[in-house]
Amino acid sequence: MILDFKLLNETVERVIESTEEFKTEGNVATYIPELANVDENNFGLAIVTVDGKTILKGDTELRFSMQSISKVISLIMALEDNGADYVFERIGCECSPYAFNHVNTITTKAANPFVNAGAISTTAMIKGRDKEEKFQRFMDRIKKLSGDQGVTFLEKVYNSEMETTDTNRALFYILRSKGIFDLEMDDVLNRYVAGCSVGVNVVNLAKIAAVLANGGKCLETGDQLVEEDYVKITLAQMFTSGMYEESGKYQMTIGFPLKSGVSGGIMGVVPGKFGICTYSPRLDATGNSLRGIKVLEGLSKELGLSLFA
Ligand code: GLU
Repeated sequence: MILDFKLLNETVERVIESTEEFKTEGNVATYIPELANVDENNFGLAIVTVDGKTILKGDTELRFSMQSISKVISLIMALEDNGADYVFERIGCECSPYAFNHVNTITTKAANPFVNAGAISTTAMIKGRDKEEKFQRFMDRIKKLSGDQGVTFLEKVYNSEMETTDTNRALFYILRSKGIFDLEMDDVLNRYVAGCSVGVNVVNLAKIAAVLANGGKCLETGDQLVEEDYVKITLAQMFTSGMYEESGKYQMTIGFPLKSGVSGGIMGVVPGKFGICTYSPRLDATGNSLRGIKVLEGLSKELGLSLFA
């Protein structure tokens, strides 16, 4: 028995209820205009246990763009395509005290794979004959890890970000000037934004998280979908840098690997137990889903989920 399923289900219900008061706190992201085009009070949660059981609450069908959660997939693919040495010679592995798109997240290289500069770097490392093939491989990887089920490309979100993404363009040029990669803007930057625009629901992301919780093995077949060493690296980075510059703060109250995105998703991995994803688009000042954090904190406390508990 991984966790008493009935207890898990009851606790999830109780914790969600106890966070009702945060439903109207925080603000949706507006710097990508299309992200503001949502019902601000939506909430969804999915848990997929490593033995294949599922808990679904709230708006679990609703599709939202992955945003920064896509950086987990870019990191995995950069590792698979180049090996860990190559990746971490060109990207740092320490949490940055600066906002995810701040220019100070680059010194000689990006601070870590989960700030924008780091994800632009991992995106550049994904291999393929041309940019179309590289992006197709990226989509296929997400579909394979998430069990597919309607993973799609959100063109409106993509166009909206492409119109407003000058900061990321600047980061691209700084990285290229430092010799991190030598590729064209419309290859790397467009694919980075396209990756952020992949549409998923909480179930898709809880499934990806469950594969990571299961040591990279497919829940149904036991096939090794992600090499164990790369799972460890990815989870370590999610733990230290997954919640932007407040990663340390939330590791004290939640205590397991997390990755959030500015559309309102937070994907969490409780190793050996389950994958979880919350969705609630109102964010705190750092860009983390406010109610999502409250729910994860409540669950961690009630079920003793911190890896240090
Ligand atoms: N596409 C977003 C950006 O580059 C992702 C940010 C995020 O989710 O942290 O600004």
